[in-house]
Amino acid sequence: MKSHVKAVVIGGGVVGCSVLYHLAKAGWTDIMLIERSELTSGSSWHAAGGFHTLNGDPNVAKLQAYTVQLYKEIEEISGQSCSLHLTGGVMMADTPERMDFLRLAHAKGRYLGMDTELITPSEAKAMFPLMDEKNFVGAMWDPVEGHLDPSGTTIAYSKAAKKLGAEIVLRNRVVDLTQQPDGTWNVVTEQGTVHAEHVVNCGGLWAREIGRMVGVELPVLAMEHMYLLTEPMPEVEEFNKSTGREMIGVLDFKGEIYTRQERNGILLGTYEKACKPWSPVNTPWDFGHELLPPDIDRIAPSLEIGFKHFPGIEKAGIKQIINGPFTFALDGNPLVGPVQGLTNFWCACAVMAGFSQGGGVGLALSNWMVHGDPGFDVWGMDVARFGEWASLRYTNAKVRENYSRRFSIRFPNEELPAARPAQTTPLYDTMLANNAVMGDSWGLETPLWFAPKGTEPKDIVSFHRSNDFGPIGEEVRATRDKVGVTEIANFAKYEVSGPGAEDFLNRLMTNRMPKVGRIVLTPMVNEFGKLIGDFTIAKTGEDRFMIWGSSAAQKYHMRWFEKHLPKDGSVRIHRFDQTLVGLSIAGPKSRDLLQKLVDVDVSTKAFRFMDFREMAVGGAPCMVNRITYTGDLGYEIWMAPAYQRLVYKAIKEAGAEFGLVDFGMRALLSMRLEKNFPTWFRELRPIYGPFEGSMDRFIKLEKNDFIGREASAKEHAEGPKLRRVSFIVDAIDADVMGDEPIWAKVGKDYGTVEKPHGYGAPRFDGTGKEVRGSKAAEGASAVRGIVDGEWRVVGWVTSGGYAHYVQKSMAQGYVPAALAEDESAGLFEIEILGHRRPARINVEPPFDPSGEKMRT
Ligand SMILES: Cc1cc2nc3c(=O)[nH]c(=O)nc-3n(C[C@H](O)[C@H](O)[C@H](O)COP(=O)(O)OP(=O)(O)OC[C@H]3O[C@@H](n4cnc5c(N)ncnc54)[C@H](O)[C@@H]3O)c2cc1C
Repeated sequence: MKSHVKAVVIGGGVVGCSVLYHLAKAGWTDIMLIERSELTSGSSWHAAGGFHTLNGDPNVAKLQAYTVQLYKEIEEISGQSCSLHLTGGVMMADTPERMDFLRLAHAKGRYLGMDTELITPSEAKAMFPLMDEKNFVGAMWDPVEGHLDPSGTTIAYSKAAKKLGAEIVLRNRVVDLTQQPDGTWNVVTEQGTVHAEHVVNCGGLWAREIGRMVGVELPVLAMEHMYLLTEPMPEVEEFNKSTGREMIGVLDFKGEIYTRQERNGILLGTYEKACKPWSPVNTPWDFGHELLPPDIDRIAPSLEIGFKHFPGIEKAGIKQIINGPFTFALDGNPLVGPVQGLTNFWCACAVMAGFSQGGGVGLALSNWMVHGDPGFDVWGMDVARFGEWASLRYTNAKVRENYSRRFSIRFPNEELPAARPAQTTPLYDTMLANNAVMGDSWGLETPLWFAPKGTEPKDIVSFHRSNDFGPIGEEVRATRDKVGVTEIANFAKYEVSGPGAEDFLNRLMTNRMPKVGRIVLTPMVNEFGKLIGDFTIAKTGEDRFMIWGSSAAQKYHMRWFEKHLPKDGSVRIHRFDQTLVGLSIAGPKSRDLLQKLVDVDVSTKAFRFMDFREMAVGGAPCMVNRITYTGDLGYEIWMAPAYQRLVYKAIKEAGAEFGLVDFGMRALLSMRLEKNFPTWFRELRPIYGPFEGSMDRFIKLEKNDFIGREASAKEHAEGPKLRRVSFIVDAIDADVMGDEPIWAKVGKDYGTVEKPHGYGAPRFDGTGKEVRGSKAAEGASAVRGIVDGEWRVVGWVTSGGYAHYVQKSMAQGYVPAALAEDESAGLFEIEILGHRRPARINVEPPFDPSGEKMRT
């Protein structure tokens, strides 16, 4: 065993072996994988071996597609078979709502270049005759599904990595990790200490314990999971003989069941409601290649549905029931990337579908380690996406919820109840008393909308407009016509201070920093010129700045800030989290209202649009920004939590004479739509350049040499390929939700445009050669050609909904730049729940296009 290496990968499951292979392929060959026992000694060996490409997050779906493509490559390099069976599979819908869900998934697939097809239950039965098609209303066929040999695949990765120069050390547990002052690691193992620049946690079932070695509690939990294998079935043999084909994979939403052919019989697995965590606090180190005792009673309700839906299986004898543990994060997606607050400590864990995702995880992580960037939009699996609130108990509740609804539909207006309330502001009880419907915003209870008095504050979940439609409309109209108040504690808030603060921010941000008492809006880009942040910044003192940003991105942004912090101690960053809360008042009467609450002049001249002041509001010390996301006249008022009730009470009392209403997050989002304002993580993501994102006026290329300036200047000089645009959609009773395809009928050449899932860091072809340019996107992005008078998919929706004040259904999305200013009718259609609806680009915001109202 070497004593010094560039990187140590801990764990020889499918994920660790994939990470090792991808690191070696990217040129880091001085690397070592350390495995406690033999390879596949965690969950990998007893997996059912199924793989598929579909995922709720289209970016994760693309990494899954990459994983499936990779198997041929590692088979060739290693000489080891993965026993790949690419059978294809169907998802079965038993209700119209589930069919709507499949229509949505199919529509998403269009711009991702996926080849799915909506089919009838009878067509599905022809491919899987064991089903009773009368239980279903429709299905979706996906040709890129199948199964493989889990052990063979893990070994193929490991052999391929070894061929490229990586070392694998077996039967050697990592017992401790200690960081040196220079940021490198001492990896203490049973066989001695290895010194490494980087450490990767691929500990699978023990990922949590490895996290604890460095003081981190990762939000990951193992669940028991069962699948059964039938005796050989004559029906299966007969089908194989008569068609010359293997039976396909089937996923049944109702029963939360998956099934496929295994030898001459059937494998059927369940995600049962009465699910059971395994080793919820500590994973025993001596757990090895053993299975857990099967518990047929626990899966009996799922089997009952399964046998009804697939009567052909009921007749077969059960040969074996496998029960094994594997890990999940709160939302079922992996935890990948560098851990905020630590140097060179990386994660690739909570990979619940290692054989669908392992390749993509390995590629993204190796890009990140070797080139400083994952090369894809990996937010959906970034380890930074959960906050401190994701404690052991919170994780336990959420993982159980996620497991038991693994194949359930999540409606766009559906808030899930487990582990709530976690964080609350001092106004929580007041908001409940006001009949607020609350939502979870990065672990914080936040009012979404207010139900009329006497009605139950509850969403009726739906893909269509629902019971919140009327009340949100009232909130918007009352705010726009008079004045409204809403909680904004769910923004991220930071203070950056010190003699180096201004230079630091100028280096990170694309806009100039404001003068004392003024505010700017500014994107942040990475060195590849891609959007990684969008902030409101106020200069609050000579060496002091307040920053507000996206709540969900707090750890993501802190990781970036810390990475670029000068080493000389000249800059300090403080993240407030919920130690600073806020209220926003907006609408034409908001100034009159504020004036009643303060003892300073807040007239237009004294307190201008984009001004910042510290002032007492209702007697409480507050910071006030003259800005609001509603795009109206309005203010953001920030205070310590101890003052929030006082300020809210003062606002309510003083506001009564102006007709003040409470409004929630959904009204706020509706109002931002009619102003064409973007949202972070929907419109603005690390796959778009700032000019693509139509953020032109916030990019000051001439100001100083900020990170990503060169790439942004290039984008500007060459012209962005895509543009973010707003649409008015001729919708009926359902608005867009995001990820819908945008169709166009154009008779002109707009060039070839790809959905940019990948960017920046190099990628490699099957032979290990680096691929650049459009080829790099092959298989990872749908390529649209030149459109010539035919209807084609030319773009995708990022978000939208109903803009209540202007009474229009609106959407934002990306289209080729050449089409971005074409407001003609009849040019675009947006697919909503499988129906294409006419849509028209709306360059100027329909509400207050000149911005006069917010400036007065
Ligand atoms: C019953 C069942 C069915 C499944 N079916 C499927 C399926 O059909 N498709 C699919 O994609 N996935 C399936 N899975 C999930 C799949 O098994 C996991 O996604 C995958 O195994 C995760 O791999 P991993 O490498 O992250 O973790 P693991 O396989 O748990 O590997 C972690 C490794 O790290 C080692 N290790 C841990 N700590 C240390 C240490 N301190 N020092 C040294 N070594 C250490 C362990 O010994 C272990 O070998 C199934 C799982 C189960 C239980």
